[in-house]
Amino acid sequence: MKIVNVCTHLLEHPLETAFESASMRFDRRLHVLVEIECDNGITGWGECLGPAVPNAAIVGIYKQWLVGQNPLETEKLWATLYNALRDQGQRGLTVTALSGIDVALWDIKGKHFGVPVSTLLGGRFRESVRAYATGSFKRDGADRVEDNAADVARYRAEGFHATKIKIGFDVEQDLRTIKAVREAAGDDMRVMIDANHGYDALEAIELGKKAAEYGIDWFEEPVIPEQLDAYRAVRAGQPIPVAGGETWHTRWGMREPIETRCIDIAQPDLCGCGGFTEARRIADLASLHGVRLIPHVWGTAVQIAAALQFMAAMVPNPVRTKPIEPILEFDRTDNPFRQAVVKTPLEHQRGWVAIPDGPGLGIEIDRDALKEFAPRTD
Ligand code: CA
Repeated sequence: MKIVNVCTHLLEHPLETAFESASMRFDRRLHVLVEIECDNGITGWGECLGPAVPNAAIVGIYKQWLVGQNPLETEKLWATLYNALRDQGQRGLTVTALSGIDVALWDIKGKHFGVPVSTLLGGRFRESVRAYATGSFKRDGADRVEDNAADVARYRAEGFHATKIKIGFDVEQDLRTIKAVREAAGDDMRVMIDANHGYDALEAIELGKKAAEYGIDWFEEPVIPEQLDAYRAVRAGQPIPVAGGETWHTRWGMREPIETRCIDIAQPDLCGCGGFTEARRIADLASLHGVRLIPHVWGTAVQIAAALQFMAAMVPNPVRTKPIEPILEFDRTDNPFRQAVVKTPLEHQRGWVAIPDGPGLGIEIDRDALKEFAPRTD
């Protein structure tokens, strides 16, 4: 089996109502899928986290080292691509582009052997996972406090056991939002907060100390990812467990945050950290140091499927009759192509998502949807 083509598919949807995290404004959804075709007709799919157009450009550059190669040699191809750009590309788009390719190669490998990727990774410990609702951004024209509380009340009614809201805008307003969200969530729903690195260390410590009374499961990306000392200060200076990792790429990027305990929870993204090949090594690293791992997800059903296959194969930890189960990040914001790109949507049922057991990622791409959501060129 040989690779005969590598291409990308951009997907775009202008939003009716723009929304913001602390660090980013979204007036459209723009994502990129990777397709790898083989000479025997097998096709694999991946997705790249982050800016779609530059990711697509780098996938296009990697293509020269993929065509003609055996797609089953995932480790060899990962090393070939990484080494090709490593001197100037140890982190960032070079790795997110490589991630989309690696996910597609594992999809091919699963289809070739007729098993889900989770089986190739070592076996399925679970057939479904609980999802947590990610949403509650700052929407244009809305009162953020009321809007976020209404979102969370809806997630609760839909059956979600947990939700994650966006903070990092302003400590005082964030605290009012957290209070309102806790009231809407009730006592038994889990609430997490994500600052999208909108604070400095002093603000993060102040927020964490004051927000702790609302029962927060984790405090995600409190400060910018380059400031590992600030991460450690936040972790030491306030009581909420600290999470992060969606922008720390590869085992090398994750090494210091894990080894020096910047975080309690590591959040590699399958489509950003280096694909399945690298996520396995990051999981081993987290396991070595007793850091909990909960993958980050922000993409289409392709990325959700990749996370699900990985989560199926996560070894139960700690060793006890009822270990802590991984939970799936489930984006609830406006994105009509998120599930439309696959023929069978990966939807939740009362907050639970079944893990596909078909070959590869276990999904089938709907090419009509790729056409429907292709960026307009007029
Ligand atoms: Ca996040």
